[in-house]
Amino acid sequence: MRLDELFDARERTLSFEFFPPKNDRAWYTLEDTIDQLVQLGPDFISVTYGAGGGTRARTREVVEHIQAKTGVTAMAHLTCVNATKAELRALFDEYHGAGIQNLLALRGDPPKGEARFTPTDGGCAFATDLIDLIRTDGRFAIVCAAFPEGHPDNPSRSADWDWLTRKFEKGAVAAITQCFFDVAPYLELVDHLTQTTGRRQRIIPGILPITDFHALERFCARCGASIPDSVRALLAPLADDPLAVRQAGIAYTVGFCRALLAAGAPGLHIYALNRSTAAAEVVTALRLSGSLH
Ligand SMILES: Cc1cc2nc3c(=O)[nH]c(=O)nc-3n(C[C@H](O)[C@H](O)[C@H](O)COP(=O)(O)OP(=O)(O)OC[C@H]3O[C@@H](n4cnc5c(N)ncnc54)[C@H](O)[C@@H]3O)c2cc1C
Repeated sequence: MRLDELFDARERTLSFEFFPPKNDRAWYTLEDTIDQLVQLGPDFISVTYGAGGGTRARTREVVEHIQAKTGVTAMAHLTCVNATKAELRALFDEYHGAGIQNLLALRGDPPKGEARFTPTDGGCAFATDLIDLIRTDGRFAIVCAAFPEGHPDNPSRSADWDWLTRKFEKGAVAAITQCFFDVAPYLELVDHLTQTTGRRQRIIPGILPITDFHALERFCARCGASIPDSVRALLAPLADDPLAVRQAGIAYTVGFCRALLAAGAPGLHIYALNRSTAAAEVVTALRLSGSLH
C-alpha cells in the first residue's frame, strides 16, 4: 500500500525500523524479530540504506521479503550518497519492479572515515533534490527525515526546519524524526511546520527504546541527539546494573511515548535495531494503558 493512502486512512500509525543484516546469522535474528513484531500489527516497516554501499542491495531484498512474507507495507530508505541521478533513476525502476511503493528520501551521512558530506557529481546534494527526482518519477509515496533538535550540520534549528518545510512543499507526505528524549523540541518542531506550511504536518516521532545507558550514549553521539539531564540523572547511576537500567529505561520510554501521543503525535516509529523484545514491551505497555490502539 502507498503510505500517502495509508496516512489518509489512519490518524495514527505504528511502525518499526530495521537495518539490512550483514550476514546469515543476522538474517536469522531479523527473521525472528519480524515474526515477533508483525504480531503487534504495525502499519508499516521501514528498512535503512547503508552509507557505504555494502548493504544497499539488501535494503531492497529485506523490503521485498517483508512485504512477501508478512503482507505488511514496507518502505525503503534511500540516500544521495555515491549515486548519480541516472543511477538513482535506475534504482527507482528496480524498486518499482520489486513492488516497492514508498521511499524515505534522505541526503545520507558521509561514508565512514569522511567528516563531511560531499555530493556526487551529477547526483543530489540534499534530500530536497532527491525528493524532486522521486516526485518527477511519480511512482512512489515520499517520506523524509526531521530533526527535533535541528540537524547537526546546521547551526540554526529554525533554518533546518525551514528546509524541512521545503521537503513537505516538494511532495513529502510525512516526516520521521531522529530519536529524541524530550517532548518539548518535538512540539516546537510541529508548531514551526504548522506555521510555515499552513497546516499540521504528519511528523512521526522516532523512538529509541532505552535498554542500556552506555549504548544510548554511543548511539546519541553518532547521530547528534542529546540526552536530557533528567534522563541522565535517572539512568547514569544505574548504568552498570543491566537489569535496573533496562527496567528504568523502558519505563521512561513508555512514559515518553504516552506524553507524545497525548500531545497529538500521529503515531510512533520505533527504532527496533533488529531486536523485538524492547519494542514489543513498549508497544504492549502503551496498549495496556490505552495510549495506543
Ligand atoms: C528517520 C531517519 C532515517 C534515516 N535513515 C538513514 C539511512 O537509511 N541511511 C543513511 O545513510 N542515513 C539515514 N539517516 C541519517 C540521515 O541520512 C542523516 O541525518 C543526514 O545527515 C541528513 O539527512 P537529511 O535527509 O535530513 O538531509 P537534508 O534534508 O538534505 O539536510 C542535510 C543538511 O543540509 C541542510 N539543508 C537541507 N536542504 C538544504 C538545501 N536545499 N540547501 C542548503 N542546505 C540544506 C539541513 O538543514 C541539514 O543541515 C536517517 C535519519 C533519520 C532521521
